Amino acid sequence: MTRRRTPNRNPGRCPTGKVRFRDRIAATLALATIQRQGRQDRDKAEARAYRCPACSGWHLTSQHPRVNG
Ligand SMILES: [Zn+2]
Repeated sequence: MTRRRTPNRNPGRCPTGKVRFRDRIAATLALATIQRQGRQDRDKAEARAYRCPACSGWHLTSQHPRVNG
């Protein structure tokens, strides 16, 4: 496993402290990459992207959307 940080010129900040994406496409691409890697801890793997009302950016969450029954 190689650790490396991606240099961010404009990292953006969010009160949640989560990784922030500038738009849905960026978040979805990151999500696809993560799912493609097939991490061992799938239970904790990010499941979907959602828009954050706090920073107007996008984050990834491991929570699956609830289905109203
Ligand atoms: Zn946010």
